Amino acid sequence: MSFEDLPIDVGVVHEGERIRKADMQVELGGPKIEKKFELVLSRKMNEIEDGEIQIIGPDLKDLEEGGSHPIGILIEVAGKEIEQDLEGVIERHIHEYTNFVEGTMHLNQRYDVWIRIGKKSFQKGFNRFKILGQVYQRLYKSELPIIEKIQVTFYTDASKMNEIYDTAIATYNARDERTRGLKDDEVDVFYGCTLCQSFSPTHMCVITAQRYANCGAISWFDGRAAARVDPKGPLFAIKKGETIDGEKGVYAGVNQAYKEKTLGAVTDVALYSAFENPHTSCGCFEAIAFIIPEVDGLGIVHRDFKGTAVNGLPFSTMADSTAGGRQIPGFHGLAIEYLRSPKFLTVDGGWERIVWLPKSIKDRVYDFMPETLRDIIPTENDVSNIDELKTYLKDHNHPIIERWVETGAAARLEEEERREELVPASQQAQPFIMPGQMMTTVPAAGGAPGFQIIFKNAKIYAEKVIIKRLDEKDKK
Ligand code: SF4
Repeated sequence: MSFEDLPIDVGVVHEGERIRKADMQVELGGPKIEKKFELVLSRKMNEIEDGEIQIIGPDLKDLEEGGSHPIGILIEVAGKEIEQDLEGVIERHIHEYTNFVEGTMHLNQRYDVWIRIGKKSFQKGFNRFKILGQVYQRLYKSELPIIEKIQVTFYTDASKMNEIYDTAIATYNARDERTRGLKDDEVDVFYGCTLCQSFSPTHMCVITAQRYANCGAISWFDGRAAARVDPKGPLFAIKKGETIDGEKGVYAGVNQAYKEKTLGAVTDVALYSAFENPHTSCGCFEAIAFIIPEVDGLGIVHRDFKGTAVNGLPFSTMADSTAGGRQIPGFHGLAIEYLRSPKFLTVDGGWERIVWLPKSIKDRVYDFMPETLRDIIPTENDVSNIDELKTYLKDHNHPIIERWVETGAAARLEEEERREELVPASQQAQPFIMPGQMMTTVPAAGGAPGFQIIFKNAKIYAEKVIIKRLDEKDKK
């Protein structure tokens, strides 16, 4: 397969390139655009024309420089072995293949797609969608030979994508609904995915019947179909093996797969916990479950949530703390579909541990929340800071309050409230949570080699921090 006729290079070497705002020619989809999608549909051999590429709306060269634009990518595939079950997995390769293109960045999936095309690549001649369509067609046909025919359509005019957008959403919903009847206890095999290891080398998704892939794009059925047609590919079967702890979701086969695929970086995983050896998170998660230590509860925030969550932090800041293939207790990447699962963070208390989530997510999963909790978990419309959250939880008798009693958090809360009466909140010490690792070098006197201090997952509390400039006389 050659790309020499194209103006830009294509290859694995370009995966992981980041295009900053100042360097981008255009942004396609992303948080500023409401309707965006990428969709793969399987067709009969006579329904599509191999090699066809269509653009519905303005082409790349006609899009305003530096702007954010609507995007829809429809890829239709046909072949004797192509089945509907493979659509989700073929679709997920759009992420990988787009990132192969020099000077191009693709993030997220499905209705969250976010692409940036860099100025340098645009100036080199990557100024038509047809080029991207050709890249997709060549990569798909060479890497997934079961695809015999492939047709690509780009939608860039929002007014002309309503019908196909509705089809995309209905297709995603139908895929998600399919797994809901299946239980983890009833299957012998889970599926692993390492597609995101180019960004997060120690990350592997374990896709079970009741724990969807973090990106929300690959179900257990999708994993099964992919592993069947390409068992040595990035999606593969994991035999559950011995059940070490069924409640927590600890399986010998899963631990072994982690050990092998992360080269020993991750060896123990509890699938249904955000705290105890949690499933790793790459950067493609749809949402984050994040600890709110002041109430001993978990909040949920998703990628499209604008503004700050109840703890005062935006999604992007918490995503930095969560991503990177690490196991960070209390910062847990997950799919929206996992919120609908009976296995949703069961070790941590499930829905009873959730104390805040955005209204739009609540609306989407409302029917799957326990009835008694539906109207007592606040959203951004009910509370906007931790103080309001505490009051709301107490006033609505949220079950998290029982944990305060059990864990002594009630006493701490009362103590905090007493202190608040004495010291304004703005002057009180706040915990500085440092997920992951931070390193600092302390130089020694007289130019001698200093030493390093490495903080791992540290939480630092300080009543007061004093930074003083040393005078010459102080140094002596
Ligand atoms: S988030 Fe997980 S399932 Fe989705 S592509 Fe990445 S590794 Fe695969």
